[in-house]
Amino acid sequence: MAKYAMVIDLHNCVGCAACDIACKTENNTDAGFNWSSHVTETRGTFPNVSFRYIPTLCNHCENAPCVKVCPTEAMYKDNEGFTLHDADKCIGCRSCELACPYKVIHFNKKQQHQRYMDDKPLIPGVTSSGKETADKTGVPLPYYNPDRAKTYDGIRREGIVEKCTFCDHRVKEGLQPWCVEACPGDARIFGDTDDPTSRVSQLLKHYTPRQLLKHKGTKPRVFYIRDYGAY
Ligand code: SF4
Ligand code: SF4
Repeated sequence: MAKYAMVIDLHNCVGCAACDIACKTENNTDAGFNWSSHVTETRGTFPNVSFRYIPTLCNHCENAPCVKVCPTEAMYKDNEGFTLHDADKCIGCRSCELACPYKVIHFNKKQQHQRYMDDKPLIPGVTSSGKETADKTGVPLPYYNPDRAKTYDGIRREGIVEKCTFCDHRVKEGLQPWCVEACPGDARIFGDTDDPTSRVSQLLKHYTPRQLLKHKGTKPRVFYIRDYGAY
């Protein structure tokens, strides 16, 4: 059985955010819901300035606080290293959101993509309404990816949480997470750490990886390599 992890090679990351955009289109996330995101940091005073760009996502922690606090086992670990969320079991208590030290869980206060149900045009007499656009494209929203619904709600419901799934729907079919495919710098590498010949295993052996907030004891499954700055 595979044990999946992601390596992010910060030396190869060009900070283009292609991963963030790819994630939105793959997972049908609403505005403000970024399962793939990034943090930036600028230090120093001109001309001695340094800038860092760090892609972020759910760390699929081995010792996941979100799983521990969930009262209904809606948030759970599977045996391949994924931290997954069962929308049917979720009661929307948001305990996981509070417990996650990385703040990567989003809560649906209202129904997603509401603008595609709204029949008021953005500019009256000039633009179509969101509803008209959705009706004409024949999908819930113009960029809807039906593959997302293979393992999770295609669009998540009001009153529950959602987060990155490491594209489990793709990985189960032998594909890579879409953020990995979309990265032009080959900065994201995904694979099986139980296989010593996999690229992730080789990279983790060759470099000394860092993990975000390692001191919290969460044992993240996202590893950063070739980070030449200190944090
Ligand atoms: S990063 Fe947050 S949501 Fe993801 S497994 Fe860890 S605690 Fe859970
Ligand atoms: S919001 Fe849902 S997944 Fe999160 S702790 Fe509550 S029941 Fe579990």
